[in-house]
Amino acid sequence: MNILVVGGAGYIGSVCAELLLNEGHQVAILDNLSEGHRAAVDRRAHFIQLDLANRDGLAQAVVRSCPDAIMHFAASALVGESMRDPSKYFRNNIANGLNLLDAMTAADVRQIVFSSSCATFGLPERTPIDESFPQRPINPYGESKLAFEKILRWYDQIHGLRFVSLRYFNAAGASGKFGEDHRWETHLIPNVLKVALGRQPHVEIFGTDYDTPDGTCIRDYIHILDLARAHILALGASASGSYNLGTGGGSSVRQVIDACCKVTGKEIPVIEKPRRCGDPPRLIATSEKIKRELGWQPQFQALDTIVTSAWKWHQQFPNGYGD
Ligand code: UDP
Repeated sequence: MNILVVGGAGYIGSVCAELLLNEGHQVAILDNLSEGHRAAVDRRAHFIQLDLANRDGLAQAVVRSCPDAIMHFAASALVGESMRDPSKYFRNNIANGLNLLDAMTAADVRQIVFSSSCATFGLPERTPIDESFPQRPINPYGESKLAFEKILRWYDQIHGLRFVSLRYFNAAGASGKFGEDHRWETHLIPNVLKVALGRQPHVEIFGTDYDTPDGTCIRDYIHILDLARAHILALGASASGSYNLGTGGGSSVRQVIDACCKVTGKEIPVIEKPRRCGDPPRLIATSEKIKRELGWQPQFQALDTIVTSAWKWHQQFPNGYGD
């Protein structure tokens, strides 16, 4: 297929583009490089540097690349920042996303795979979270993702735009080529590995008084390659749908740090800090629906496997993409 990967210079988009290319698809990557990196654009892909706010430019780019489907990863994705600057989140994730949907309908592109988030669920009453759980976001980031999910339903009904929304839990790890490099790193695993690399003196644990076995937050870490595989399966979906994507298992912050110590063989000094605003104590997915309907099966579930892949990448690229 011919796929336009929007936001394909970012962490998840770059690995999805790589997998698509490995499987013989034709790929164009569109990215404004505000969060993404030029070096994360797979050399085999055609690259278009463009901001989704540029409505006319976007409409032309979609017509020119004439894709069979679009994968849409481009978004602002930091919960904390969204609490300080909601406008940025509603503008980038909703208004600019609408430009993309309008460009698609104008060019008669009828299929989209959308990066949604477990942040649409807010504070779940229990875990694991399945698709029937109420979606009640507790921050503008989650709200923006939920709004876009709803918009997709209307575009499907009115314009016949088939969508698959994938609600990621905690994407982690790396492919051989591409990994996680945010200019402002807030995520746990890269922050811990920076300590192992000697680039940071210690890692901070945000909250040790949660109602969890070791007092730290529990997340469902999913290998980026398993996540990317789900996107490829989504291209074959015969109907629109929304799916939770995790492994069904959870690891606490302390367990992640222990796994990083084990995999890297380094000491990781920690400093205990108060809770980070907006962090739910426990987020674990059940992904039975995508297994049943699209035949997805995670292959790299073990936390050590995920951390090992990330560690290899960070050792190879200690400065990340260097930009
Ligand atoms: N966390 C932490 N120290 C860090 C980064 C994150 O203790 O330097 C915690 C964070 O509070 C959360 C968990 O690790 O409980 C996962 O955070 P991350 O930002 O990686 O992902 P999120 O679940 O927020 O999307």
